[in-house]
Amino acid sequence: MKQTFFIALVGLLLIVSPSWAGVTNNPNPVQKAIDSVFPELPYAYNALEPTIDAKTMEIHYSKHHKAYYNNFLAAIKGTPAAELDLKSLFAEISKQPALVRNNGGGYYNHMLFWENMSPTKTTPSAALKAAIEKDFVSVDKFKEEFANAAKKQFGSGWAWLVLGKDGKLFVSSTPNQDNPLMDVVEKKGTPLLCIDVWEHAYYLKYQNLRADYVDNFWNVVNWDTVSKRFETK
Ligand code: MN
Repeated sequence: MKQTFFIALVGLLLIVSPSWAGVTNNPNPVQKAIDSVFPELPYAYNALEPTIDAKTMEIHYSKHHKAYYNNFLAAIKGTPAAELDLKSLFAEISKQPALVRNNGGGYYNHMLFWENMSPTKTTPSAALKAAIEKDFVSVDKFKEEFANAAKKQFGSGWAWLVLGKDGKLFVSSTPNQDNPLMDVVEKKGTPLLCIDVWEHAYYLKYQNLRADYVDNFWNVVNWDTVSKRFETK
């Protein structure tokens, strides 16, 4: 009985949130950028405490992310970019003004970020774990490389775990709101996991100690989402 209810609930959630699931786990190949929706946060503002405090989450989501979304839609409205899906837009982002690149990246990257965190303890799937061990030797070595990329990114930006076109996983970092789907980025591929290292992501709680924020990030990584991104690619 309980199981039936759970299955019905999951089914209902899938039905009511198709654009959210589609955009984040596998960028929707047909949805126009102008039809982008501002997503619900998948948990409460205080859900990731003590790693990320409620005030930071509230400002980050309701002010920063919302502003990227609004500015992105305003920037593409009435232009050919509005007719492209996000993946196609990012693939030729070099042709776009900085306003589209920065706000489009900001809109998209934060969706990935919210979804690849969770208050629930999770672990990588067997397939993802095997791939990480193949390309990084061990999960710990991968974490070390990812954390280093996050700590060393100069100024604002992101660190990523990416699946390259050759099927290999790699770690990278990008400045500002760039992401691995963009043609301007040197190391391109499908983003699986990201961490926001803009000061707005951690400064209220961690001040200048970005390294502590990065080290604590592992407490809230949603490996279920990361595994799903890897396996549905
Ligand atoms: Mn941010």
